[in-house]
Amino acid sequence: MRFTPRDEEFRQSVRAWLEANLTGEFAALRGAGGPGREHEQHEQRLAWNRRLAAAGWTGLSWPAEFGGRGASLAQQVIFHEEYARAGAPARVSIVGEELLAPTLIAFGTPEQHRRFLPPIRAVTELWCQGYSEPGAGSDLASVATKATLEKGEGEVGGGEWVVTGQKIWTSLAHVADWCFVLARTEPGSTRGRGLSYLLVPMRQPGVTVRPIRQLTGTAEFNEVFFDGARTPAEHVVGRPGDGWRVAMATLATERGAAMLGLQVGFRRDLDNLIAAARESGAAADPLLRDKLARAWIGLEAVRAYGLDTLGGDDPTQASVLKILWSRWHQRLGELAMEVLGAESMTGHDEWQRLFLFSRAETIYGGSDEIQRNIIATRALGLPRPQNP
Ligand SMILES: Cc1cc2nc3c(=O)[nH]c(=O)nc-3n(C[C@H](O)[C@H](O)[C@H](O)COP(=O)(O)OP(=O)(O)OC[C@H]3O[C@@H](n4cnc5c(N)ncnc54)[C@H](O)[C@@H]3O)c2cc1C
Repeated sequence: MRFTPRDEEFRQSVRAWLEANLTGEFAALRGAGGPGREHEQHEQRLAWNRRLAAAGWTGLSWPAEFGGRGASLAQQVIFHEEYARAGAPARVSIVGEELLAPTLIAFGTPEQHRRFLPPIRAVTELWCQGYSEPGAGSDLASVATKATLEKGEGEVGGGEWVVTGQKIWTSLAHVADWCFVLARTEPGSTRGRGLSYLLVPMRQPGVTVRPIRQLTGTAEFNEVFFDGARTPAEHVVGRPGDGWRVAMATLATERGAAMLGLQVGFRRDLDNLIAAARESGAAADPLLRDKLARAWIGLEAVRAYGLDTLGGDDPTQASVLKILWSRWHQRLGELAMEVLGAESMTGHDEWQRLFLFSRAETIYGGSDEIQRNIIATRALGLPRPQNP
């Protein structure tokens, strides 16, 4: 990827804005809310996210006609790089802004665009993703949550979807206003057929959210119970029964764009670990030196592959990248434990958190095994795995 002089001007403007604004009440937010730290300073990060919105830094990739900035891919990379470099806090708007919005833009009606995109961009409505269920994770087509349409009285239709079922591992459901829910709307249908992609308000009597405590001791994801929860008939994205196609489009976004800027944070992690190894004397150990050098090489490979495949729509490449970065980050956590020695077992510091939380990275957004199945099938032409 090459950056033009105009891109470099854009970089300067991002950098200057972050420098001028990550000050005062927001200065303390540097580094907050990253992986495994989603619980941190939610209200303050919400206020920060709204400040970003007011300055036009949300909806960066959305086309201008949908209220976005229409930034080029190069500019998006620059924004995320500078954002991570400044240590700016993790944004609370990501699920709505980066997962739902591109799906809505592609599949939604003009009314849905008008209703849902502005509050996502302004960060006045937060979203969560209701896909996984106790019996449907990797095998998402086993979704069992049901929704039925109760017809309205009037001639023009109307009515409401009534949703019943359980979702699980729903990140940030406890702070979300809305959930995009994959539900079975055609009774008796199986697998990907007969599913619909519904937009359901979270704050209503039919929705119960129960936090799940994680290995890190915090709870950023939840169980979500829908018990006769309601949403207007028109809050279905795509045709009723065609939700699988819409859901897959969201997943493609999730697997593709997530990498932007991530590696800048990874670089900081690695630099900090190298500094810690120097300080503790661990850097003199030939085996640890070797592993640190390998980690450095690995990150170069992640960055090169990420930039090389950016903007492509080949699902195989997205799978390769997901495996590369998630495995790399996990190994870094393991290496940190080696560098810090036995003390790392008892201390509750950032390194331990990285070590523990990075276990999740080879699970969410499609597990390693699922990514390898995609590569085996699509890139190597091997037969599809049989469903058990
Ligand atoms: C931190 C975190 C946040 C998450 N946030 C959300 C969220 O906001 N919304 C949401 O809907 N979901 C979310 N998830 C859920 C995530 O999408 C699922 O955990 C994931 O899809 C795996 O499903 P599962 O946990 O049911 O595991 P399973 O599918 O039961 O898998 C168990 C093991 O079997 C392996 N396996 C399964 N099928 C195959 C196969 N065909 N071939 C080979 N191996 C296989 C898997 O790789 C895994 O190792 C989150 C998960 C995590 C960890």
